[in-house]
Amino acid sequence: MSDTIFTKIIAREIPADILFEDEQCLAFSDINPQAPVHFLVIPKKPIATINDIAEEDEAVVGHLHRIAAQICADKGVAEQGYRVVMNCNEYGGQTVYHIHLHVLAGKPMGWPPY
Ligand code: 5GP
Repeated sequence: MSDTIFTKIIAREIPADILFEDEQCLAFSDINPQAPVHFLVIPKKPIATINDIAEEDEAVVGHLHRIAAQICADKGVAEQGYRVVMNCNEYGGQTVYHIHLHVLAGKPMGWPPY
């Protein structure tokens, strides 16, 4: 797949407010927050969409969720609750083709999400 803006953030070629990093993933604040807390958790491996997640990627996708929960706990929003979203392709509202968890917190979320 071709590089995205997130590849450049991983490589520190463009700046981001980085919240967490390890060998598998990176978490950083969303540049256009939709809630008082809005950050993204991405694998370092560039996977374009949910449709492209291979069996070998199952562990890292689980890891993204565990890190999302850990950051929410660190921010003190875990008990109140939060929303985790991964958009897929056009109808899902995906704009960056490198999978990412959106983690939104700090206010009650509506449902359905439209
Ligand atoms: P999607 O629409 O693909 O689900 O979400 C992409 C997200 O990436 C959007 O919420 C958007 O605000 C965020 N985003 C796009 N470009 C940048 C950037 O350069 N830096 C950061 N921190 N977030 C970005």
